[in-house]
Amino acid sequence: MFSDAFDSSIIRSEFWRQRAILAWEKYRGCTVCPRNCQVDRISGETGTCRTGVSISLSAANLHFGEEPCISGVRGSGTVFLTSCNLSCDFCQNFPISQMDYGKKITFQELSRIFLDLEKRGAHNINLVTPSHVVPSLLISIIIARESGLSIPIVYNSNGYDDVGMLRLLEGLIDIYLPDMKYSEEIYARRISKADRYVYFNRLAVLEMFRQVGNLVLDENGIAKKGLLVRHLIMPNSIGGLEKTGAFIQENLGKDTSVSLMAQYFPANRALKKVSINRPISMDEYESAMETLFSLELFEGYIQEKEETDDEEDRIPMTPSDREREIA
Ligand code: SF4
Repeated sequence: MFSDAFDSSIIRSEFWRQRAILAWEKYRGCTVCPRNCQVDRISGETGTCRTGVSISLSAANLHFGEEPCISGVRGSGTVFLTSCNLSCDFCQNFPISQMDYGKKITFQELSRIFLDLEKRGAHNINLVTPSHVVPSLLISIIIARESGLSIPIVYNSNGYDDVGMLRLLEGLIDIYLPDMKYSEEIYARRISKADRYVYFNRLAVLEMFRQVGNLVLDENGIAKKGLLVRHLIMPNSIGGLEKTGAFIQENLGKDTSVSLMAQYFPANRALKKVSINRPISMDEYESAMETLFSLELFEGYIQEKEETDDEEDRIPMTPSDREREIA
């Protein structure tokens, strides 16, 4: 029978058992993410992420669409977690993140999925959207490590992470893969419904960097350890790469690996918002690359962008459109 209770005796090591108990307690008066809902998830209450204490999984498989150092040749062992602590108008995975499609599983079942992915050849375990279920993931990672899991763990987050929770993950996460989505709080609030995203995102990225440092690859170009920051180029400079890039350069250094993503398309509610209702133009793509290079951020990846037929029909947002959208 399914049970989402946490019996700490499933963890053999005293050190990690204590860490798991500390993390689990964060579910009481939930402070697991910057939303700070303070609901008691252990008693069955739920906050903005609509999630209890058990893991809900939407898919787990080998994935070949991540950065080359993450997907490698055998694939990344990608584990898509249900629900999210953001609510982005443009989310391409909204059936999973906002409609909560998934199946509840136990900590032990999740740890067996990790081990199975390793057996199938995965280069790593890639936790997608982990921020709202960190204590439960932490327990599953410990169980899997105690059962022999040896490949790196990737924390693939939207970047709206709590520093206190990240500290509890120290020693368990090998590769941090956070988004830095915005550099203006107003856009984060309007488009992702997140208060102080920029503030918490930058604190989180600093903590991630403190734990794992710059990205390190093995002799085959596969990531072993480190930080890889993702930035999705959005239409009308909504993502604010210039300020984000400057923050990275000043606080983490020019050797920081950045993955510049060009795959934006208007999914979910984005079609109704004039600022984000279209893919990016080639001009916007090239300008983002120039921004990155002008900051001397040369490490990482730039996703290719294909030219599309409707390039010339794209009308830039006017200042009055912008004001209306953020009013
Ligand atoms: S993890 Fe969920 S319940 Fe906890 S603070 Fe964040 S949104 Fe709220």
